[in-house]
Amino acid sequence: MQPTSLSPESLAIHGDLDWEHPERNDTALAPAIYPASTYSARDSAEFAEMANAPRHVRYYARYGNPTQERCERLLARLENAPAALLLSSGMGAISTTLLALLKAGDHVVAQTAHYMGTAKLLADLLPSFGVEVTLVDQRVPENFERALKPNTRLIVAETPSNPTLALTDLAAVAGLARARNILTLVDNTFASPVNQKPRDFGIDLVLASATKYLGGHSDLIAGVVCGEEKIIENIWSRSIALGTNVSPFTAFLLLRGLRTLPMRVAQQNATALALARFLEHRPEIARVHYPELESHPQYALCQRQMQHGGGVLSVEFAGGVENGYHTAKRFVAALKLARHAVSLGGVETLVVHAASMWEASLTPEQMQAAGISPTLVRIAAGLESAADLRADMETALGEAV
Ligand SMILES: *Cc1c(COP(=O)(O)O)cnc(C)c1O
Repeated sequence: MQPTSLSPESLAIHGDLDWEHPERNDTALAPAIYPASTYSARDSAEFAEMANAPRHVRYYARYGNPTQERCERLLARLENAPAALLLSSGMGAISTTLLALLKAGDHVVAQTAHYMGTAKLLADLLPSFGVEVTLVDQRVPENFERALKPNTRLIVAETPSNPTLALTDLAAVAGLARARNILTLVDNTFASPVNQKPRDFGIDLVLASATKYLGGHSDLIAGVVCGEEKIIENIWSRSIALGTNVSPFTAFLLLRGLRTLPMRVAQQNATALALARFLEHRPEIARVHYPELESHPQYALCQRQMQHGGGVLSVEFAGGVENGYHTAKRFVAALKLARHAVSLGGVETLVVHAASMWEASLTPEQMQAAGISPTLVRIAAGLESAADLRADMETALGEAV
């Protein structure tokens, strides 16, 4: 049996094992944590080999370690990729990947809507190194094509995007990039490989904040990038220089979380859809953003490229900007089960009033460009009962207006 023929549920349990060399697998079922910072050689020939072999996991722990390797094997298989590199955080994965792939004089096409950390890298850091960046509205695939230049080296996409769950047509972007030898990179954090496998649509590199769904328990920070062996090796060589390596203990925790990824995401999908349907019919709510709702403008695209809409939705409150802003704040404060915190993908349902987060650092125009209405609340479903969450929201709505 080939690992690639297995469903995510089975892969999550067994996909960290070495299928080509079964004799190398540890007989201990739980993965061992290798805290060693350094590994000894038996002789100078072995030392030379350790120092020079790419991605050696028993040399010096900034280069990798056996716990991390086991976790990477599983992550690559979940994303249908030949190789994966686990890094210090989602931002560690994004920054290391961009710095490895780009040099001064290159041009990047990315989206107007990105995770805020990514948006800052694209707006400030890359231009400071002489990389040109063009941002486009991701909802129109032709926008990516129109932005291309002779020096375009990379297209960066994120779908669904934060916080309005806008989608990018993966097959369309992959197609126009492939025809011109341009690399494609997709941030798959919101969907997770359970809902969407960008490589199946021709995307080259898939990246995620493992802090969210992959870890799933709000107890670790990590990031991952998956793709062809040669490109991953290049990103790895930059990670050594940048020091964006992951700790062995984090790799262990992530593996432990990954075992239940498909079940967790299945329930979060169902809860988010139930909450979206409930909130869509409430008079206090003007708009619900959730790609698996028939009312979402890109519902057809969601059906084509996602298994389900994911665990995150966002709502805009009714009653105009000023009223809706205050209702949103009162709603978030009135919730008892859902906690008010950044992040998503953990077992706890989390809500954020996005404007409260950004109004100190962004102008109203910048917030509007990022899709952040003052009345918007993002909801990331956890694993509580959907009925309890709905009741909590019903009570909070009554108290907020
Ligand atoms: C959280 C997040 C990141 C950053 O990941 P960290 O692990 O916090 O560094 C990047 N992209 C998306 C879509 C995210 O949600």
